[in-house]
Amino acid sequence: MCAIGRDIREWWGVIAMEKLSPSSLLDELIRIPSVSVLTNRPLIEYVARLLHPRGWNLRELSYLDASGVEKVNLLATPPWQKPNDFVVDLALVCHTDTVPYSAAWNEAVAPRVVGDAIHGCGACDVKGFLACLLAALLNTAEAHFASTVALVLTAEEEIGCVGARHLLQAGLLRPRHIVVGEPTSLRPARAGKGYGLAEVRVFGKEAHSAHPAQGVSAIYRAARLIGQIEQYAESLKNAAVPESARIFDPPYTTFNVGVIEGGSAKNILAGECKFLLEWRALPGDAMGKIPDIVQQMVTELQRDDPDFEFEVKVLREQPGFETTASSPLVRRWTEISGREAIGVPFGTEAPLMSTLANDTIVVGPGDMRTAHSPRECVPLAELDLCVAYLKELLENPLEPAT
Ligand SMILES: [Zn+2]
Repeated sequence: MCAIGRDIREWWGVIAMEKLSPSSLLDELIRIPSVSVLTNRPLIEYVARLLHPRGWNLRELSYLDASGVEKVNLLATPPWQKPNDFVVDLALVCHTDTVPYSAAWNEAVAPRVVGDAIHGCGACDVKGFLACLLAALLNTAEAHFASTVALVLTAEEEIGCVGARHLLQAGLLRPRHIVVGEPTSLRPARAGKGYGLAEVRVFGKEAHSAHPAQGVSAIYRAARLIGQIEQYAESLKNAAVPESARIFDPPYTTFNVGVIEGGSAKNILAGECKFLLEWRALPGDAMGKIPDIVQQMVTELQRDDPDFEFEVKVLREQPGFETTASSPLVRRWTEISGREAIGVPFGTEAPLMSTLANDTIVVGPGDMRTAHSPRECVPLAELDLCVAYLKELLENPLEPAT
């Protein structure tokens, strides 16, 4: 390209076509920090600089978070569709934020290729999928699109799907089918576990530790309760696996006590102990029943300790989602990719988004087991495959014409 041509492109902010490979797009996306607490506007503007000069219709839905920081959801449709019409065949949904990264991870936003994968914060969760979406959408000619589409970018997924909730409230998006990007090693996920989080507070009675009979240790009480929770979790692990759960790994509801805090000094019986209880439930399991189960455990403990006092405060409760194996989207992605459908054990925007559409899948390059850590990476080969699969999806009608 001559110098003048390059200058004009830079002046217009147009990103040259030859840079639209998924790996080069991903390299640039990783370099734009978009940790959930920051505004995601720089990343949205990067995408807008790609789409706007090519005539795409862009609709920003912005809001201020609790700290007054601007967050932006973006709805984008191709130039040949009616502007501001988001009643579409297919919505392609991707979040724009990442989890925070440790200061010791020097290359979090300086991506590099190691072996056959690109490493960096967001490489698989979920900028890799965003790079594939952009490459597939912009490298498919108008005449080849078989469906009407919307590209949907959301803010603040990692801190509880906040952006997606704002988007749903706006009531603009009405797709028939939805693909939500998350790393699944390109397997179509047609179900996701629900997510619950509660703070459990256990009370005791403070006393000098030299005279333990004068008090009750809240820490010992909490330990007994946590022991019960562990036993309950083990019993689920060892129970027969229902047919509908076989697509999950692991195929049962799981629990975690991730944080515990209690007591005030080494020589005082603890007056209070609290812990965070998290659960990831199979779609069929009622999310709300966990506090009841904890209550039953305490009732059991109260036989020997009638004064056992506690409180459960549910902090988050998000249902799972399930799309039937025979839905058009599940069947199509399985056909295209030759990969069997799975369920995902981690949280996604799919439970919220699936309320809008006939069917929803979660799919993307990379493996979530590398995400949220300095090991995060995405295989280069999966980026190219993902673009090819997305193009197939765009170029063939999902349902027979009626
Ligand atoms: Zn994600």
